[in-house]
Amino acid sequence: MGTECVITLFSSSDAEALSGAFEILKDIDGRISRTREDSEISRINRMAGLEEVEVSEETFSLLARAVDLAYFTEGAFNPLLGGVVDLWGIGTEEARVPSQEEIAAVLPYCSLDNILLDEARRTVFLKSDKTSIDLGAIGKGYASDKVAEYLRSQGVERGIINLGGNVYVLGRKSAEEPWVVGLQNPESGYGGYYATVSVEDCAVITSGSYERFMTKDGMEYSHIMDPETGSPAETDLLSASIISEDGAFADVLSTAVFVLGYDEGVSLIEKASVEAVLLTDEMEMVRL
Ligand code: AMP
Ligand code: MG
Repeated sequence: MGTECVITLFSSSDAEALSGAFEILKDIDGRISRTREDSEISRINRMAGLEEVEVSEETFSLLARAVDLAYFTEGAFNPLLGGVVDLWGIGTEEARVPSQEEIAAVLPYCSLDNILLDEARRTVFLKSDKTSIDLGAIGKGYASDKVAEYLRSQGVERGIINLGGNVYVLGRKSAEEPWVVGLQNPESGYGGYYATVSVEDCAVITSGSYERFMTKDGMEYSHIMDPETGSPAETDLLSASIISEDGAFADVLSTAVFVLGYDEGVSLIEKASVEAVLLTDEMEMVRL
């Protein structure tokens, strides 16, 4: 998943479930990673403009959900941004600032009408070879849902799933107390937090520019792209954290809210009826 995955369980009888949980993560990564050549998503991307690809039920329903949620966020979350993400390469060795011409040459192919999903045949077709799926903004939330579902089915009542700082808590800390999850302070090192949320049985997922960015000529460019411009989002938020029982939804929303910025982000949070904590670029915290 390109990040550190830590699963914490509290009962010795949960040991078997722990290895099962990592099998699930590996399976998901093997299906949806765009850096693994043999993943289903890579196959779809390779066949873009050429041929439709039949995929597993799980991958098909994730893609269908991603497209639905893209419309729900009015395109602020867009799973077809792969072309733009690659152009900038933020977080990779090839990170650079592309020209406006280069951006203009791929951006039209990121629009949502470039993917065709055939439910009856479980096939996916990308209409142009310039279109590329990137599930980076939903994958970790989705994976945490799947791991949580599996652990529950194994009778695990208490646990913490941490996928690169995106947390899903199972159950409560104890009968008396819920879990307390810290929200990363962008201005301090990893592990320092600016606020906490008390939660049970839900995901706490954060998008922030501090996670991954490149600095060029004194400018900081984040890995979260604005689908309208094809460039890193220029936003008045430092981070957006979403709290929801639905990890995939929380992941999508965290990215979309970050892209939209404070005003439109708040409207989306209200439309989605989720809890959220926003940190503005003036280090002001807002709980919604
Ligand atoms: P997240 O950390 O959940 O906000 O997801 C960021 C990752 O999703 C990036 O590293 C890109 O791979 C991809 N991405 C960037 N911007 C967007 C966007 N606006 N919509 C969907 N995916 C995006
Ligand atoms: Mg996200």
